[in-house]
This record gives sequence, C-alpha cells and structure tokens, in this order.
Amino acid sequence: MKTGVMGIAFDNVTMEEALARACELLTLARAAYVVTPNAEIAYEAMHDEDLRALLNGADMVLPDGAGVVLASKILKKPLRQKVAGVDFAAGLLRELSKTGGRLYLLGSKPGVAEQAAQKMLAQNPGLVICGMADGYFKDEDDVVRRINEAAPDVLFVCLGAPKQEIFMQAHQKELHVHLMVGLGGTLDAFAGTVKRAPKWMIRLNLEWLYRLIKEPKRFRRMLRLPKYILAVVAERIRGKKTWEN
Ligand code: UDP
Repeated sequence: MKTGVMGIAFDNVTMEEALARACELLTLARAAYVVTPNAEIAYEAMHDEDLRALLNGADMVLPDGAGVVLASKILKKPLRQKVAGVDFAAGLLRELSKTGGRLYLLGSKPGVAEQAAQKMLAQNPGLVICGMADGYFKDEDDVVRRINEAAPDVLFVCLGAPKQEIFMQAHQKELHVHLMVGLGGTLDAFAGTVKRAPKWMIRLNLEWLYRLIKEPKRFRRMLRLPKYILAVVAERIRGKKTWEN
C-alpha cells in the first residue's frame, strides 16, 4: 500500500514486508529499483519535479529516517515504521547469503567497497560478492559493462542522492540485474569509515544529531530537515492539498 507524503508515494511497509517484496522483485526478468529517500531528499524532491518522478518511478520507496515518518504522522497518514536503507541492506545480505544470490557494490571512495565487502562477508558467510567499483568513475558505459560482465542479481548503488537514482533509471534497461537499491552512504557505514550513531541515539531518533556532530560540514544540507518539517506543518495547518499523493 502506498502512502503519499508531500508528493512522494512511500511504500507503507515494515522491514519484513520490504524484504519479502525485494525477494519477489528478485524473481522478475527486468531490473527493478528501490529508493530510500530521507527527509533531506524528500525536501529536495518537493522543489524538483524530475527527482520526484525518479523516486515515484521506483518499484519500492522506503522511508529512510525519522523525519519522513514524523511528517507522515503530522499529515495524519502514518507510515508504519522507518525502514532505514542501511538496515534494509543488511537484511538483503542475509537473504542473499541464504540463496547464494550474487551482489555487486557500486559507489563510495576508492577502497571503501573492498572494506565493506570484507565486513559483509564476515557477517554473511554464504554471500557472493561478484564485483565492485568506486563511485568516482568518468566512463559510465564502462561501469555498466563491468557490472553486466560480473552478472550480479543485486546491485547496491551508493553514489549519494540524486546521482544514484539518476544512474539506476538511466541504465535500467541495459543493466542485466534483477534488483538495484540506491543506498547513499551505506558502504561507508559497513566499512566503518563513517560510524553509525550509538543504539541509544538511534532509539531516540537522534541519528541525525550524531551525524551533524561528527560531520559539521553537513550542516547546510541538514537544514533541509527542519525546512521539510516546517512545510509539512504548514500543509497540515492550511489544510490544503498541495500534493496529489
Ligand atoms: N559518492 C560517490 N560518487 C560521487 C559522489 C558521492 O560514490 O560522485 C559516494 C560518497 O563517497 C558516499 C556516498 O556516495 O559514500 C554518499 O554518501 P552520503 O552520506 O552523502 O549519502 P546520502 O546522505 O546522500 O544518502
């Protein structure tokens, strides 16, 4: 079931349901793609029709972050839970290690995917990582060719938003994979180059504050979160429907 929040049609699913749907998508003959917008991207999409279309064109749109879930509650269309991209990725790794599915890692700085792969394999011994490439390539066609040669079932696209969404849609037809997932900084999280917040901060929905303290240069970008919530509150108070969904 879809729940529209400020123009983005999110899938109102639990983590288990999202993973089950991903397994279904894996059986299809085409390359499906999944996006995981957080409040920062959702705010950007409010002002960018093309980005909105890219997000809404995905086979699954998962609410990555407490900001989006809060927005849905303010608008009285509550999403059931946050489905963080990094947790979704970890769940997919578990599924793939059961089935022997092949995974390709695309994105992040040189060397990071290799480190992430080591951690992923240590946690999921049955996993097959069939290739990887960093996210600072010049020749996109060459990257597509290398991915196809490695013949993965699943492709993690970790180029940051909206670059990863543009990549997935642009190459959907030529990439011979079953499932692509846009996962932002997830490889950094697995590699440990960017640490996740401690559990107590995640529980209190303060992961954003942790990232802000650790990476103050994100400040300008993170201002989109309060701006987004402000826009949501204004929408609710005015009681007008700016968005179709
Ligand atoms: N990145 C990349 N190619 C680029 C720009 C960024 O591979 O041209 C990577 C970057 O190294 C990082 C990720 O994309 O690993 C974006 O991380 P960020 O935390 O900014 O992601 P977001 O918050 O957009 O999900």
